Amino acid sequence: MNQVKIGQFIKEIRKEKNLTQREVAQKLCISEKTVSKWETGNGLPEVSSMLPLCKLLGISINELLSGERLDEKQYIEKAEENMAYLVDRTTPQKKVIISTISCILVILSVIALSLLAALFVIQIWLKFVIIGIAIIVVVADVLVILLVAVNTEIYTCEKCGEKFVPTLTAYFWAPHTFKRRYLKCPHCGKKSWNNYHIRK
Ligand SMILES: [Zn+2]
Repeated sequence: MNQVKIGQFIKEIRKEKNLTQREVAQKLCISEKTVSKWETGNGLPEVSSMLPLCKLLGISINELLSGERLDEKQYIEKAEENMAYLVDRTTPQKKVIISTISCILVILSVIALSLLAALFVIQIWLKFVIIGIAIIVVVADVLVILLVAVNTEIYTCEKCGEKFVPTLTAYFWAPHTFKRRYLKCPHCGKKSWNNYHIRK
């Protein structure tokens, strides 16, 4: 991720489009200073500003993050790299909010489906279909929440101090409290109650 290159690219396309820094700032509801910071390579657009900026400049996010126009072959090559960067930039707090919201939505939809299956006189097979859907939804959601947790939490081994990220299965089966989780350290192999911290 080359900030200076990205800045020069933003500037170049902005000039191509005959836009001033002020006009870009107004259209994106941000300060002129922010636009200037991007162009001098002293900052990158927030994830939330990227899409409107790209729309305005008529480029893709992939091109923005690469700091150049891309042909089809380059586009695919760069996509993965840039995607990884974007996921990384989504803050852990946001990830936690996403998983909480998804959890609430799932509970609500499962309640709705259960009521549907229980209250109305419908054919047995339809009840099974509804129950099946409810189960799939719950399993999918648990997976999402686990993936979010595994991607944001880092554990520190009590015995040797090694920092590690548990595997999905280990994470799922480990006894835990809000703050700690009983995990096997991949470094020293000892099991202990490990504290975790959210990855910054
Ligand atoms: Zn250890």
